[in-house]
Amino acid sequence: MTINYDFIRNLIGLQGIKVVYSNVNNGIFKVFATSVFNIAICLDCGRITYTVHDKKFQAYKRLLIWGMDIVIALEKKRYVCSCNPKHPFDESFSFIRKYGRYTTTYENYIFTLTHKNTVKNVSNIIGNSGATCQRIYNHYAKAKAYLAGCKPEPLRFLGIDDIAFK
Ligand SMILES: [Zn+2]
Repeated sequence: MTINYDFIRNLIGLQGIKVVYSNVNNGIFKVFATSVFNIAICLDCGRITYTVHDKKFQAYKRLLIWGMDIVIALEKKRYVCSCNPKHPFDESFSFIRKYGRYTTTYENYIFTLTHKNTVKNVSNIIGNSGATCQRIYNHYAKAKAYLAGCKPEPLRFLGIDDIAFK
């Protein structure tokens, strides 16, 4: 059977990637993907570089599909620019934040859950640490307050247990 990787790419709904392989193991749907781009823009000088320093696969969690956990094993390249050959930099993807381990869709889901629940319950559901949930929650609460054009009010965006602990 030929697998239609375009179908999988559309299903997971992430931009700028090409699915190269997928499998299901222990109820986890793992999707291997690479960037569709083979260039990067240097953050220092703004020029385009084609020079790949190294690459590795990194796993990112995405929301469930058909009740299965989705893990995107994403090939992340590090590029170097001639302006600063000793300092390679990561290629960026629109759907992950720097140092994040989840897609932004998943982080938004964590934010929504935390907003309606306690950090402890959410970290049990997600299977990560409470500190991670709290960090994600704080980030999106701040971003949403900023977008709404209001100054973040300390109590307004706190999760239930933040208040309960006080
Ligand atoms: Zn440069």
